[in-house]
Amino acid sequence: MTAGTSGVPGPSGPASGDSTRSVHAGRPPATAYEPSLPGPTFVSHYHLPGEARGPYTYGRDENPTWERLESAISELECPGDADAATVTFASGMGAVAAVLLSQVRSGDTVVLPSDSYQATRSLQQRLESYGVGVRLAPTAGDAQLAALEGARLLWLETPSNPGLDVCDIRRLSDAAHAAGALVAVDNTLAGPLGQRPLALGADFSLASGTKALSGHGDLLLGYVTTRDAALAAGVRQWRKTVGAIPGPMEAWLAHRSLATLALRVDRQSANALALAHTLLTRPEVTGVRHPALPSDPAHTVAAAQMRRFGSVVSFTLPDRAHAERFLAALRLTSEATSFGSVQSTAERRARWGGDAVPPGFIRFSVGVEDADDIVADVLRALDEAAAGA
Ligand code: PLP
Repeated sequence: MTAGTSGVPGPSGPASGDSTRSVHAGRPPATAYEPSLPGPTFVSHYHLPGEARGPYTYGRDENPTWERLESAISELECPGDADAATVTFASGMGAVAAVLLSQVRSGDTVVLPSDSYQATRSLQQRLESYGVGVRLAPTAGDAQLAALEGARLLWLETPSNPGLDVCDIRRLSDAAHAAGALVAVDNTLAGPLGQRPLALGADFSLASGTKALSGHGDLLLGYVTTRDAALAAGVRQWRKTVGAIPGPMEAWLAHRSLATLALRVDRQSANALALAHTLLTRPEVTGVRHPALPSDPAHTVAAAQMRRFGSVVSFTLPDRAHAERFLAALRLTSEATSFGSVQSTAERRARWGGDAVPPGFIRFSVGVEDADDIVADVLRALDEAAAGA
């Protein structure tokens, strides 16, 4: 189910597959008596005598720890592409806001997915208050195609959170470019080893690095990658101006975590598929979604553009009380509102409001535990939840 051995030469070394690339990405050449990943640079002011020239002037503007992480993410999003540039942010929403708010002006139109991550959609009112028109259309069926006329920016989120619908990035990018619009893809659910939006025609690939990219549930981070130097400069300037910078410690921890990215997402994708197959056998469970399931409505498009299918499985239990009994009965999986961590987590998504999901809808993020243990825990919790009905 993975295609991790593409053999593309990366900027930092010879031909490599995804695991090799994940381990080495962004690390400096081996140097005697130096660590392979230099520690975080904690700095607000650099010594800056005379003329204020870079490369390092002030801690909100540049930091070598960010730069190493950014070059690593560029290698993963766009292997071997010297034009790729990444800008990291304090969180995924920092990255989302940077692209949306730096790229559109009063009078422009943005096309958003009506089923995107709800905090992204919550920017609709802010955009409208600035005189930006917002059109909403669902991810499934490439429905955003019909909303492109006169748009400045098309925003895709595929797979979507939490519904796991998928759209055709290449098809939508081609149509958006023909209509004169830029294309941004929120790549959080798939991640850089799951799909490469820039190779599929998008202008921006951005993500919450809080999820599988860093993968340990212990930090927040975001990033934007683009192959266009002017777009990268605009996003970097936005970060500097609003100050949405990552902490050096978070950036360093995320970079260290990249070494295991391929291992983690391979395991998570396989575990997620095993769980999805198990859920299909339960009569009280409906609407099981995972893009790797051959029966999933998104599978054909997903299989054509994704290289790994991610850690999230969604499904629906009969009602709110049933879902709450299920979540309370899980022993291995804790309730949490995030995904992509090494630990399995799950939540009843409707507890927040804002998503068009039934009361019993569960978003389950599968960790790197043993598949048999995850499946056994879920089956036992399903049995207990059904017995309590
Ligand atoms: N984009 C998507 C698809 C998300 O799911 C999330 C968070 O869940 C974000 C963006 C925002 O990321 P963060 O929580 O790191 O700000």
